[in-house]
Amino acid sequence: MSNQTVLVINAGSSTVKYQLISPTDGTAIASGIVEKIGEDLGIIEHKFGGHAYTETLKIDDHGHGLRKVLELFEQYGPNLAEANVVAVGHRIVQGGSVFPKPTLVTDEVVEQIRELIPLAPLHNPGHVKGLEVARELFPDVPHVVVFDTSFFQTMPAESYTYALPKAVAEKFSIRRYGFHGTSHQFVSNLAAQTIGKPLEETDQIVLHIGSGASVSAIKNGKAVDTSMGLTPLEGLVMGTRTGDIDPAVVFHLYREGGYSIDEIDTMFNKQSGLKGLCGHNDFREVLGLIEEGNEDAKVALDVFVHRLLKYVGSYMGVLGGLPDTITFTAGVGENNAMVRADLIGRLAGFGIKLDPELNEVRSKEPRIISAPDSTVKVLVVPTNEELEISRQTLEFVK
Ligand code: ADP
Repeated sequence: MSNQTVLVINAGSSTVKYQLISPTDGTAIASGIVEKIGEDLGIIEHKFGGHAYTETLKIDDHGHGLRKVLELFEQYGPNLAEANVVAVGHRIVQGGSVFPKPTLVTDEVVEQIRELIPLAPLHNPGHVKGLEVARELFPDVPHVVVFDTSFFQTMPAESYTYALPKAVAEKFSIRRYGFHGTSHQFVSNLAAQTIGKPLEETDQIVLHIGSGASVSAIKNGKAVDTSMGLTPLEGLVMGTRTGDIDPAVVFHLYREGGYSIDEIDTMFNKQSGLKGLCGHNDFREVLGLIEEGNEDAKVALDVFVHRLLKYVGSYMGVLGGLPDTITFTAGVGENNAMVRADLIGRLAGFGIKLDPELNEVRSKEPRIISAPDSTVKVLVVPTNEELEISRQTLEFVK
């Protein structure tokens, strides 16, 4: 195995996902996930050579989990000592305004990521644990952190500023950061390639629609706006998140409903969105219910598409005209022809049109699905955040 490889690590609060990637040819050589860290029974699944190996055991902490992963590499392959691992790339959700680009990990950088925990209490604590453990286990290679927020650090102040008292916003670092940046970056690059135009000459709207969902507006290849804000709660309707909502709903639930702030936080993040509207957060289940004639599921989908439509419309305003491309990505965007047809059908007045047959094609390749005479090229581009992290990591250590 002579190709340089990068080990990509995404450590959450109770999970660690990993992939061994060859960034130059884009192959994922091995991958896996450690789940339920700290619970009575945890699970590790390791994939290599077309096989999946699963172990269930109590996993005490992130260190225990990652050490176990190294044993699985030894037992089932590939041999890490021979894999030419040149760096470890870590996915970090929140880099605040401190990290506009990938950064080499030092003690000070770990400390800075720890200091950002108040801005990402669900994500950064797990990242810090993953960083500490991985640095111990792989002491001989550089570690690089790649942030979900970095791609959006090019947003102008008019996009990222909330109209709060200035001193309050400054004191608490309250602004819009945006998330899913690695995906928006990967997809916008590939969208430009797919239409054969230099990235710097493209205006784009990217729709990342998975269980979390976000839209970005990209002007001359750079992000100028995105739908997620201080946290990933803002913007689109998501599997379990409200997306945009009048903030006064919080005051109302608190004063009139007697809910605590933590209860409202949980309600907005975990019990709302599609799940709140029709009881299911998985898009496939929502579509199944619609086929059975379920009215709540129909309303849920309509609310979802209407919100998406509002973002696409407003981002055409932000871009000052029609973009070159509107690109769908992530679980729903890549796989769901019906949502794509519903949204694009509502944009017919702008001359944007799908080719209905191309829209139905299932493929893992980036592709154009609009009609030849559409005013905007509509694309499906499968995202690959791990590959993007591995590339940025390799680029950095070069
Ligand atoms: P995340 O990475 O944010 O967890 P994904 O990008 O994997 O999410 O997207 C998950 C969503 O994609 C789920 O709502 C799932 O129902 C939807 N999805 C996946 N495959 C399909 C499909 N073939 N048709 C419709 N929806 C799909």
